[in-house]
Amino acid sequence: MRKKLFIPGPTEVKKDVLEKMASPLIGHRTKEASDLQRTISQKLKKIMYTNNEILLSTSSGSGLMEGAIRSCTRKCAAVFTCGAFGDRWYEMAIANKIDADRFAVDYGQAIRGEMVEKALETGKYDIITVTHNETSTGVMNPLEEIAEVVRKYPDIIFSVDTVSSLGGVKIPVDELGIDICITSSQKCLALPPGLSLCSISEKALQAARKVEYRGVYFDLLRLYDYLQKKDYQYPSTPSLSHMFALNYQLDKIFEEGIENRFQRHTTMAKKVRDWAKENFALFAPEEFASNTVTCVENTRSIIFKELNQQLAKKGLMISNGYGKLKEKTFRIAHMGDITLEEIEELLSTIDEIL
Ligand SMILES: *Cc1c(COP(=O)(O)O)cnc(C)c1O
Repeated sequence: MRKKLFIPGPTEVKKDVLEKMASPLIGHRTKEASDLQRTISQKLKKIMYTNNEILLSTSSGSGLMEGAIRSCTRKCAAVFTCGAFGDRWYEMAIANKIDADRFAVDYGQAIRGEMVEKALETGKYDIITVTHNETSTGVMNPLEEIAEVVRKYPDIIFSVDTVSSLGGVKIPVDELGIDICITSSQKCLALPPGLSLCSISEKALQAARKVEYRGVYFDLLRLYDYLQKKDYQYPSTPSLSHMFALNYQLDKIFEEGIENRFQRHTTMAKKVRDWAKENFALFAPEEFASNTVTCVENTRSIIFKELNQQLAKKGLMISNGYGKLKEKTFRIAHMGDITLEEIEELLSTIDEIL
């Protein structure tokens, strides 16, 4: 039986959007391909509240994360982490022989402005990486508070992983001064996995120009320069199928209304949080609880696998905890095109099973 996905990626993709993936292909060196990329960029700029250029990558979001830290670190990166995805950025730096320091808080806690300030005060760093929404713990870090600190250090490249929040939560990229804002197709944008996208500022591009070894495929500067020189085309063949679907899905997002979409996520999150508090507990402090995924502390020691097996019989699926949080927590995603009614149906089904 097909299972409706309430997992933090991939999320449910509407049938008409899926069908766009099956559109007849076009040449990637044609005017049509250029127009497609240009149109997508214009639409994404609205959702990201930015005038910065948009880059697409035929990879999942991790590709652009690696590309960002490799392309833009001149001296040393300060990597802020509050969970598995923050840690991943540190791992990428080390594997690429990039100097980086890891600043971590306990799982379940948020990254605070004060912590960022302490690191930046040292003058040791030229780039910071922050996970906006830590999908492994259900913590949504206070970006505004962090941005306020970063603003005082104009040479810092502010790189943010918004993989599990962009398209579900308002992230005003230019207002926050984010230089590189990265997301994936398969989370709040509700598309199949395999495409990622980011905005990139002039400042980040200037930084990349000073970095000698940026790799090839994920060299953000190379992607940008090619786009400028070759009328919005890419050095390698992009996933045009994803681009057809993305272009279409962005129109559907505007049809819903961006603000309405954000509000829907807020409403769904509140519903799931209230349920979690009544039946279990929230893993994250409520003040920093995510609006796209709720990490539920398994206070009743239920056997998660059994719950998900029962849910599968009803055509539903949620997620176990991530990594070391398996069994101790489980996660319900409320992101993408899922509706409040679907969330209510899920929660009442879980109630019946329990
Ligand atoms: C899913 C996720 C990633 C990894 O993205 P991929 O597209 O799977 O590479 C990174 N960061 C966060 C916060 C995520 O939720």
